[in-house]
Amino acid sequence: MTATPTPAPPLAQQPATAHAPSAATTVADVVVVGAGPAGVSLATALAEAGLRVAGLAPHAPDAPWPNTYGIWEDELAPLGLAHFVTHRWTDCVVYLHGRALRLDRVYTLVDNRRLQAHLLERGAARSVVWRQGPAQAVTHDATGSTVTVGDGATLRGRVVVDATGHRPVFLTARQVTGHPIAYQAAYGIVGRFSAPPVRAGQLVLMDFRPDYLTPAERRDQPPTFLYAMDLGDGRYFVEETSLAAAPAVPLTRLEERLHRRLAHAGVRVVEVEHVEHCLFPMNLPLPRRDGPLLGYGGAASMVHPASGYQVAAALGRARRVADAVAAAVQRPDTSPAAIAAAGWEALWSAARLRRHRLYLFGLQAILRFDEEQTHDFFTTFFRLPTTQWAGYLSNTLTTAALVRTMLRIFATASPRVRSALLANGLGEVGLLWAALRGE
Ligand SMILES: Cc1cc2nc3c(=O)[nH]c(=O)nc-3n(C[C@H](O)[C@H](O)[C@H](O)COP(=O)(O)OP(=O)(O)OC[C@H]3O[C@@H](n4cnc5c(N)ncnc54)[C@H](O)[C@@H]3O)c2cc1C
Repeated sequence: MTATPTPAPPLAQQPATAHAPSAATTVADVVVVGAGPAGVSLATALAEAGLRVAGLAPHAPDAPWPNTYGIWEDELAPLGLAHFVTHRWTDCVVYLHGRALRLDRVYTLVDNRRLQAHLLERGAARSVVWRQGPAQAVTHDATGSTVTVGDGATLRGRVVVDATGHRPVFLTARQVTGHPIAYQAAYGIVGRFSAPPVRAGQLVLMDFRPDYLTPAERRDQPPTFLYAMDLGDGRYFVEETSLAAAPAVPLTRLEERLHRRLAHAGVRVVEVEHVEHCLFPMNLPLPRRDGPLLGYGGAASMVHPASGYQVAAALGRARRVADAVAAAVQRPDTSPAAIAAAGWEALWSAARLRRHRLYLFGLQAILRFDEEQTHDFFTTFFRLPTTQWAGYLSNTLTTAALVRTMLRIFATASPRVRSALLANGLGEVGLLWAALRGE
C-alpha cells in the first residue's frame, strides 16, 4: 500500500525512539522485523553504523534460537567470533563409497545463547530497541515505511528490513525461475546412545553409507546421509539429512532411516534430550529488489545452495549491508525504495548474483545424481585442495576461482559424474548462460 508522498524531514528533525510521538508508535531509522540470526546480526550492525534501530519479533529477542547451528571455524574467526562456540572438532570426516575421507578444516557448533546475548548487548549499547509482537502489515510512503504490529502499535522507519526467515512475512514477491523449490530436510536427535554412534571427538559431516537400506530404496529414493558429532560427556547429535530434494524427503522417512542406520550399526537411542526437525528451501527464488523493502537472511535467499548454510553469511555480510543502508539514510530525501536498493546492492552485488547462479546450476546437478554419482561427486569435491572446497562452501571464491573450481571438478570427476554434469549443462543452459553473462 502506498500513502500520499510527503517530503522527508532531515534525520536530525525526526523524533528519536526515546521520544516517540505516542506510546504506540516507535520511530527509528530502520525497522528490522525478525530476531533470528539474520535479524539480530543486521540490527546490531545497523546500530553500529550509527542508525537508530527498532526490532520486532513475536517473542522476546533473547528467546533461544531453536536450531543447532554448525559453522566452520575459519568463517567465525575473521569476525572475531570464534570463541562463541560450544564445540570444536579437528577430527572431521566424510564417508563416501564406504571409506572415510579426512577433512582438513575445523568445524564448530555455535553457542547460540552466548552469541545471541553478545549481539543483542552490542546492539542495545548503541540504539537497538526490540518490541514484542507479530508484524502484520507494512505501508510505505515517500519518507518511510510503517509496520503494524498485532496489537495495533506501529513501528516507523526510513526503511523496513524483512528478516523473518524462509517464509517471509512481507517479502513475498519473488523472481520466477522455472525450477521447483528443493528443500534440505533432516531429522536429528541430541541424546545418549547404547554405544557411540561416532568415534570419540569426531565430527561426521556426511556419512553416505547406504548399507542399511534395501536395494530398491537405494535405487528409487534420493540419497541421504548421517550428520553426527560427539558432544562430550556421553552425548551425541545424530541427524539423517537430505541435502536437497524436490519434493522434500519426508521427515518421517528421515526419522525411520536414522533409527535403521543406528540399529544397523548396533546403536540404540537411550535418552532423547532434543529432537531437531529441519526443513528449509535451498533455492528459494531471490526476492524482487525494486520495491521499498529490504530483506536479510532466509527472507533474502541467503542460504548457500550447495550446503544449506546461512548463519556465517548472515553474520559476515551484515556490516557491509548496514554501511550501505546508513549511507543511503544520511542522504536527504531518500525514499524507502532508494535505501532498500542501496542495501540490496551491498547484499546481492552483480558478482555475488553471478556466483549464486553458478551455485544454483551446481545444485541442479546434485538433484539429478543417483547414489553412485553422489558418492563419486563428493569424493572428487572433498579431494580438491581445501582452499577450493572450503571457498566453494563458504562463498569466498572470486567468480573466476569458482568457475575454475567447477571446471576442475568436471575434469577430475568419474565418467558417470561427467556425463551427468554434461546432461545438467544441456538441461540448464539458460541458468548457466545467465550466470556467465552476469544477468
Ligand atoms: C533445523 C535447522 C537447522 C539448521 N542448521 C543450520 C546450520 O547448522 N548452519 C547454518 O548456517 N544454517 C542452518 N540452517 C539454515 C538457516 O541458517 C536457518 O534457517 C536460520 O535460522 C535462518 O535465519 P534467519 O534469521 O533468516 O531466520 P529465522 O532463524 O527463521 O528467524 C526468523 C525470525 O523472524 C521472526 N518472525 C517470523 N514471523 C514474524 C512476524 N510476523 N513478525 C515478526 N517477526 C517474525 C521469527 O520469530 C524469528 O525471530 C538450519 C535451519 C534449520 C531449520
